[in-house]
Amino acid sequence: MSQEPAITPKSLPEEAAKKLASLNLNLCLTCGTCAGGCPATGTERLNGMDIRKVYRMLAYGMIDEVVNSDFPWICTGCGRCAAACPMNLDTPAIMGYMKHLRDRDKVPGVLHKGVLQVLKTGNNMGVPKDDYLMTMADMGKEVAEDCCPGFYVPVDKQDADVLFFPNSKEVFSDFEDMKWWWKIFYAARENWTIPSENWEAVDWGLFTGNYEATHILAQRKIEMMKRFNIKRLIMPDCGGGSYGCRMGMKMCKMDDPASEINYVYLYEYLVEIIKSGRIKLDKSVNAGKVFTWHDSCKHGRELERHFGHGYYEEPRWIIEQCVDQFVDMTPNRVNGYCCGAGGGNWPMPYEKESAFHGRKKYESIKQTGANVVVVGCSNCHDQIMKRYPKFYPDCDYEVKYIWELIADSLIIEPLNDEDVEKAEAEAAAQWERLGIDPDAGYE
Ligand code: SF4
Ligand code: SF4
Ligand code: SF4
Repeated sequence: MSQEPAITPKSLPEEAAKKLASLNLNLCLTCGTCAGGCPATGTERLNGMDIRKVYRMLAYGMIDEVVNSDFPWICTGCGRCAAACPMNLDTPAIMGYMKHLRDRDKVPGVLHKGVLQVLKTGNNMGVPKDDYLMTMADMGKEVAEDCCPGFYVPVDKQDADVLFFPNSKEVFSDFEDMKWWWKIFYAARENWTIPSENWEAVDWGLFTGNYEATHILAQRKIEMMKRFNIKRLIMPDCGGGSYGCRMGMKMCKMDDPASEINYVYLYEYLVEIIKSGRIKLDKSVNAGKVFTWHDSCKHGRELERHFGHGYYEEPRWIIEQCVDQFVDMTPNRVNGYCCGAGGGNWPMPYEKESAFHGRKKYESIKQTGANVVVVGCSNCHDQIMKRYPKFYPDCDYEVKYIWELIADSLIIEPLNDEDVEKAEAEAAAQWERLGIDPDAGYE
């Protein structure tokens, strides 16, 4: 008796075949190294699907099944598989393409709505311009009163040396988290600015496979730099945001080589201002605590693979300037595990799956015995600080941004009276120009 084959292989549509071949799909050896190193392997919701099986499905032409599965969304795009693949398959890019092919009304959770929102309003949460500016005026006043006389948040400043992008999560609710960077800028006497419009740091286009959005968001940043004649952009601190921005800038440069702008990664910037003596740090405030560092995939492994340099050593050097006791996780650097929040998995609905992915990172943290986990990405921050304790009961560590650690360790020299007066006059003129009354408070 003849048996029907379980799968009837078919050809991929021409465009998809071309795209996937450009990402080396046809070279896959089915060795399984990727699946062996991927923390998503074994996720209950995936019913036995792993990355090696996904590649077999694609080889058999089953692209619709992959696109409509949960796999591309539960994959965090961490690149651990790609870094180990002997044939150099770019899994994060292939999964990004699978997301790209999903109908927009079937993108899970809030991500697509966020993309529409950022394209329309300039930020993922749709924060109105006046609320944003009022928040900046109000929180800036608090910092001035607290420790930095004369401080204010400079908006749309012409000829600034540095352009900085806020993250809508902070502008919307985590207000206090903005103050760390502000204190650093104050202590360094930085000539910096933020935009009044299109200020979103995070790129949800990257998380939804929306190439056009990634392109537009980078284009906006480039235009801002040129319009205000700003010397350098600090790449958004969010791992996905900075990675999306870098990818978007690459697309813009392909369209127009003149669109190239100067940028600096936060780690390079922080090393620069510490080494040059522009900021001074006091380790004693962190005495008695043990610190560890979480290698963010998008600032390390993925940057290294795509752009030749991953930020592994710089953050470790920065932390050593702030603390006496540092211990590395095992594994770390290129082999480190993702926190489980990548690829949009912090705001996405697959919370249990994201926490399952994070179990490896949680174990790495626990093994260090550290009191404080230092991070450089806002998704990693929230995942390790807020989601792990919901799923793993003994999370007895603190989580700090690397810029928060620096801000806590700063020796801040206040401006002299004359400079305070000058800064206050500049602030008053700026808020008047923008139609904001910093003393009005919220209605
Ligand atoms: S590691 Fe690379 S070659 Fe091996 S199965 Fe995975 S994708 Fe294929
Ligand atoms: S990118 Fe990360 S989550 Fe996705 S398949 Fe590779 S190792 Fe797994
Ligand atoms: S959230 Fe952090 S750890 Fe997770 S993929 Fe992104 S950068 Fe990596």
